[in-house]
Amino acid sequence: MDLDRLIQDRIRDVPDYPKPGVLFKDITPLLADHVAFAGVVDAIVAHHGRGTVDKIVGIEARGFILAAPVAYHFGAGFVPVRKKGKLPAATIEENYDLEYGTETIQMHTDAFAPGERVLIVDDVLATGGTARAAAELVRRGGGEVAGLSVLMELTFLDGRAKLGDLDVHSLVKV
Ligand code: 5GP
Repeated sequence: MDLDRLIQDRIRDVPDYPKPGVLFKDITPLLADHVAFAGVVDAIVAHHGRGTVDKIVGIEARGFILAAPVAYHFGAGFVPVRKKGKLPAATIEENYDLEYGTETIQMHTDAFAPGERVLIVDDVLATGGTARAAAELVRRGGGEVAGLSVLMELTFLDGRAKLGDLDVHSLVKV
């Protein structure tokens, strides 16, 4: 099975989660399949090229699962972007609208050295609000946003439209 089909096959649709009317894309079957999981990590690293960025930003919580092995294989450091109140030291924050509700995310103020090149990694690009807020945190934190990689892009929500000229790389589009 090629990677595209394997990814599609291992992502489960869960109706009415976390709210009625939302069809949630559950990536846990993919994570449980080591061939699919490793294939996704390798494909993200291969797309950008090892060594081309200094830091990988992972977005809580599913973004962490993908971003940490991507950082390891890239030869880059890992930086967490977390929900409000979870990071221990001084933070900057961004508020945004979600597909379902509103959210605040934070990042440590000293996450980057000035001008470091940063790749943002998350599991799903939906409305684009989370990715836009994360990119803004990276810029405000002194980093240079090299791009965004996601496992799955929900094209019907047109999240890309919110992201300006950000280089968006999605492994599968639905
Ligand atoms: P957005 O801000 O683009 O609307 O939503 C993307 C964020 O919400 C990502 O951090 C992602 O983890 C989460 N998200 C939204 N919808 C889904 C979904 O259907 N499946 C998964 N796994 N995550 C989702």
